[in-house]
Amino acid sequence: MLIDSYDRVVDYLRVSVTERCNFRCQYCMPEKPFSWVPKENLLTFEELFEFMKVAIDEGVKKIRITGGEPLLREDLDKFIKMIYDYEPSIDLAMTTNAFLLKGTAQRLKDAGLKRINVSIDTLIPKIAQEIAGKDVLKNVLEGVDEALRVGLKVKVNMVPMNNMNANEIIDVLEYCKARGMSIRFIEYMENKFAKADISGLKSDELLKILSEKYSFSDDGFDGTSPSHYYTMDDGYRFGIIEPYADDFCKQCNRIRLTAEGNLIPCLYFDEAMSIAESIKKGDIKGAAAVLKEVVRTKPEKNRWGGDDAEVSSRAFYETGG
Ligand code: SAM
Ligand code: SF4
Repeated sequence: MLIDSYDRVVDYLRVSVTERCNFRCQYCMPEKPFSWVPKENLLTFEELFEFMKVAIDEGVKKIRITGGEPLLREDLDKFIKMIYDYEPSIDLAMTTNAFLLKGTAQRLKDAGLKRINVSIDTLIPKIAQEIAGKDVLKNVLEGVDEALRVGLKVKVNMVPMNNMNANEIIDVLEYCKARGMSIRFIEYMENKFAKADISGLKSDELLKILSEKYSFSDDGFDGTSPSHYYTMDDGYRFGIIEPYADDFCKQCNRIRLTAEGNLIPCLYFDEAMSIAESIKKGDIKGAAAVLKEVVRTKPEKNRWGGDDAEVSSRAFYETGG
């Protein structure tokens, strides 16, 4: 079992299989004034899988595939199947923008994928174009329909922003509710790669908007999920991810692996250790030692909203949010 210095059990690994993306979301990578990691520096799926085995053997029970946009990486279904065949009980999930989901959802499900999280910030094509930098909404919604049709469980992530999509909070919630999908509103997290003038809604502002239409109870946190949950009178549950809140990191159970093999203990900070060399050499003990050290050095909390807060320089497209 992996336990950090604050007695949190770390059993959740998020694996970014690429930092590349077909969208340019304003809060993530509105432009690309940098160069991508060269393809030859990426770990192959076989190499990533070698590390997945180490992590599973050390106690990881949940793996989420993310990016960048994970569906840009060829043969993703084969990677999913490798993990599934090694340990079918792993809670195997993916976060995607859904643009390429139509036509791939069935293969991913057959390979062993159980759940997906999809980012839907708006239901208005023009706003989707403004947020993502291209006309994406039709493909996204068709991708979601297909995922539901093939039997994948779907959760929706929405990042509410002032002067952008804040007036759609109810519409997106109703869209999800009508399809049996849960929704999580994510507070915009400042980072130095995002567009400069974004103003995200904080939890209290979201709750004010929602309470004008619904009444709901506050359920607090549930297990290790980062969401603060609320249940509406008709039983529908929604979540809010509040990284600025004081107690957000208390139940954190996750670490992150980038496509190059950097293992990152916290989404906010730049600190990372590479497992690439050990994995490439077949040094399984070395990779396990790096994993344990990263867990040991996991910080107690992020610095969003703290008195000593700086703008985080950790890129979301690299770590997968
Ligand atoms: N491309 C996939 C997608 O968009 O779902 C997976 C990667 S994306 C980095 C993962 C999640 O991070 C998305 O739900 C996205 O909305 C969220 N995200 C990215 N930048 C963010 C930011 N600055 N603040 C809050 N959430 C952010
Ligand atoms: Fe791409 Fe996801 Fe980042 Fe949007 S949030 S640019 S879809 S990685």
